Amino acid sequence: MEPVAPFKEGEELIKQAGGGTARLCFQCSLCTVTCPWNTVGKLIVHRKLRQAGLGLADVEDEDWWRCTTCNECVSRCPRGVQIPDVMIAMRKIMVQAGAMPGGLRSVMASLAAVGNPLGEPKERRDDWARDLHVKAFSPGTEILFFPCCVGAYDARVRQVARATALTLQIAGADFGILGANESCCGESVRKAGNDRLFADLAQRNLDAFARVGVERIVVASPHCYTTFKKEYPGFGGAFDVVHVSQYLAELLREGRLEFQRQMDLKVVYHDPCYLGRHNGVYEEPRAVLKSIPGLELMEFPDCREGAICCGGGGGGIWQDTKKGERLSDLRLNQAIELGADILATACPYCMMNFEASLLTETSDNALQVRDVSELVLEALEVPLTKC
Ligand code: SF4
Ligand code: SF4
Repeated sequence: MEPVAPFKEGEELIKQAGGGTARLCFQCSLCTVTCPWNTVGKLIVHRKLRQAGLGLADVEDEDWWRCTTCNECVSRCPRGVQIPDVMIAMRKIMVQAGAMPGGLRSVMASLAAVGNPLGEPKERRDDWARDLHVKAFSPGTEILFFPCCVGAYDARVRQVARATALTLQIAGADFGILGANESCCGESVRKAGNDRLFADLAQRNLDAFARVGVERIVVASPHCYTTFKKEYPGFGGAFDVVHVSQYLAELLREGRLEFQRQMDLKVVYHDPCYLGRHNGVYEEPRAVLKSIPGLELMEFPDCREGAICCGGGGGGIWQDTKKGERLSDLRLNQAIELGADILATACPYCMMNFEASLLTETSDNALQVRDVSELVLEALEVPLTKC
């Protein structure tokens, strides 16, 4: 293991990169016990903190990239170490040195070239909405709907974006999209340690928002939510940001959506880390689900603040995780044990991970994975063929 720089310089480098609290760590290992990686036998966190505190970096060791920034450990640390920040700081230093897992390297290249992590053509970013006649956002439009890159391009998550757009149309919401003019919010790359690329993506979006006077954004992803709400203001962004589950709760409160269908289903809701722990949004998705006639809302034993991460945050969604170490498999099996018909979530990354887990963890169709928006649309009794 090499020092990131001569001792004093290394300490300063880590501090400048945002990992200064590493030196407070006294190795109690409470973070390791709390970390979801503990459940798959990877007792790594306190060792990584020790290495960071000593200014050491094993650049070939991909364990630095395991942290999903789920934030579960932070409240348990008796010394106030900002553990995810330390992990991100070490990644920044390694990215600057040219070291990162191969999956992230290609994602960053795609983001730099075409503004999305999937390498899809920019001009096809609004394909998901074409036949729904969703209008382009123009000055005076009340709401920008931001579907997230995977909502725009991924075949499964597109259905969620479409369900949301149809629901907003039914409610009579005045909304539009930016299509080819929007770029990835940049959350994954910032957490993966590439601040320069993040700043570039943020500026592209801020310019696009400013050109048409965006004042309110409804976002599909808790990752975009956090980024627009907490990080873009640092670059001059000033707008109201609402997660789609919050907006649906608002529409229901105002009586703008009326359910037509009885949904006799047992639904267990998974709290996405970036909606729950990072932003404290626990009630609105539950309020929406509870308002659907017939739907029985179940809870995981570790719900809300204690919810296990699906593995998608912090750039994890773009990395291969081998069988036996996938956190989403654990969550899916918990849902099966509870006897749920539906595992519901409100995050595109959770959706992608759970859908992948369905392929390996189940052989029947007893459990389905759905976004809250999809269940709302179904209860409005809109023919699913429209999706
Ligand atoms: S919980 Fe805090 S003090 Fe304890 S090992 Fe983890 S980072 Fe260090
Ligand atoms: S933020 Fe989550 S994944 Fe990262 S070290 Fe803490 S508990 Fe583990």
